[in-house]
Amino acid sequence: GPELFAPERPNSKGFDLGHAPTLARIEDARAPFAAKTWDAAPLLAMKAAPDATNDVTNPSDLSAIGTLSTASSDDVEGALASATPWDAPADERAAILNRAADLYEENFGELFAILAREAGKSQPDAVAELREAVDFLRYYAANIPAAKPAGIFTCISPWNFPLAIFTGQVAAALAAGNAVIAKPAEQTPIVAYRAVEMLHEAGVPRAALQYLPGSGRKIGGAITGDSRIGGVAFTGSTGTAMRIRAAMADGCKPGAPLIAETGGLNAMIVDSTALPEQAVQSIVESAFQSAGQRCSALRCLYVQEDIADDLLNMLKGAMDCLNMGNPWHLSTDCGPVIDKGARDGIAAHINTARTEGRVLKELTAPTEGTFIAPTLIEITGIADLKEEIFGPVLHVARFKSGQIDAVIDAINATGYGLTFGLHTRIDDRVQHVCDRVHAGNIYVNRNQIGAIVGSQPFGGEGLSGTGPKAGGPLYLSRFCAPDRQNSAA
Ligand code: GLU
Repeated sequence: GPELFAPERPNSKGFDLGHAPTLARIEDARAPFAAKTWDAAPLLAMKAAPDATNDVTNPSDLSAIGTLSTASSDDVEGALASATPWDAPADERAAILNRAADLYEENFGELFAILAREAGKSQPDAVAELREAVDFLRYYAANIPAAKPAGIFTCISPWNFPLAIFTGQVAAALAAGNAVIAKPAEQTPIVAYRAVEMLHEAGVPRAALQYLPGSGRKIGGAITGDSRIGGVAFTGSTGTAMRIRAAMADGCKPGAPLIAETGGLNAMIVDSTALPEQAVQSIVESAFQSAGQRCSALRCLYVQEDIADDLLNMLKGAMDCLNMGNPWHLSTDCGPVIDKGARDGIAAHINTARTEGRVLKELTAPTEGTFIAPTLIEITGIADLKEEIFGPVLHVARFKSGQIDAVIDAINATGYGLTFGLHTRIDDRVQHVCDRVHAGNIYVNRNQIGAIVGSQPFGGEGLSGTGPKAGGPLYLSRFCAPDRQNSAA
C-alpha cells in the first residue's frame, strides 16, 4: 500500500540558504575546516598496514587537502578474514543508525567543508547531499528487514555523491545485518573516512564496518570475486559493473546479488505547449547543477521545432547567469569537474563539436583547477551520442510535431533507462509518453534530478541498473540472503 512510501521519520530538514542567520551559522561551522588537512587510512578490525600514501586534491585549485593511505593486499585479506556480520537486535541496529544520522547533522560544518574542498560541491549541492545521507540512514533504520543478512557485503561508491551514495549503500547493508567492506572512490576518500568514523562512534562495531580505500584496479577484484563475499553494491560506470559481475561469477558465493546503479543517457522532451520559463529553469538545473556530474543529469534535450529558436535563446540567456568558481562561495552555481582526467575527456568532446561547428553556446571557465564551462551542443538526435559525457555539457536536438513516438523510440534504443523529463501541458501526452519511455525515474514539468529518499526511490533499468531502487521499500531485501529473497519474491 502507499504507506510503504512514507518514511516513519520525516526527511531531514536541511538548511535554508536564503536565510541570513542560517548562512552565518554555516560560515561559522565551516571556518575551522577552511584550511584543515585530513589523513585517511584503512579502518579495519585489525591493525592496518597500508602500502602507499597519495595526496588528495581540491579540484578547484589542485591544492592538497590531505592524504590517503591505500589498503595493501594484506589489508584486504585481513578485512575479509575479520569481517563479522552485525548480529545486534534490529532495534539496536536502528538506534545506532539513527545516532549516526544525528552525528552527521551535528558535524555539518566539517562535512560541508570536505564536500566543497574534496568533491567540488556547491553549497546547495552540499546541503542536499548531507540531507540525502541522513535520510538514507533514517529511512533504512526505520525499515530493518526480518530476513537473514547475506553475510559480507562489499560497497563500492562513486565520487559524485561521495557522502550520500557511500552512506546509502553502507546503511542499507548494515540495516540488513551484514558485515560491510566499504571502498570509496579514489578521488573522494576523506568524506567517506569521516563518515565511517561517525558510524563507529555511533556504535557500529569495527568488524561490521571496515573502510578499505584503494584503487579499483588494485583491490577491486579481491573485494568482489572472493568466496566469502555474499553480495556487492556498486554505483559507477556500466563497464565497471560488467567487470564486477564477471569477477563475482568466478569467485563469489553462488547467487550473491550485485546491486548496480550505473550510467545513463538521460533525455528530456519539451513540446510546444510547455511553459518556457519553467522548462528553461528545469533544463539549466538538470544539465548544469553539480557541474552535470549526476547520473540523473540531462544529457539530450529534444525541443519541438516550432518553439526551438525562442526556447534556445532563453536557455542561452539563462546560461549566462550561471556563476562558475570555487564552490566554497555561496555565489557559485557551477564548480569544477572532479579531476584532470574528467576535464580532458569532456574538453575533447567539446573540441570535436567545436570543429564541426555544433557548439551553440559556451561560457568561459576559470583557468586554475579542473573546470569545464557549461556548453550547449547541437545534435540531430540521441543516437549521435556514443557515450555519456559526465559533465556540464547539454546536447540539443529538434523534433517536429507528430514525431514524438519516434523520439521516444530513439531514446529507448540507447539501452539506458535512468531518468527522463517531459515538459508539456497536454494531459493525454503525459500518460502516453510515460507509458512508452523506458526509464527508472520520470519527471513531468520539473527538473529531473534530486530524487528524495522515501518518496522518490531512485534507480534505472536496462544498462542503467539492476533495480530495486535506492531509498525505496524493496531495496533492503536485496541485501538479505538469496534464499529469503527468492521465497519473498
Ligand atoms: N540520486 C541523484 C539524483 O536524483 C543521482 C544519483 C547519481 O548521480 O548517482 O539526482
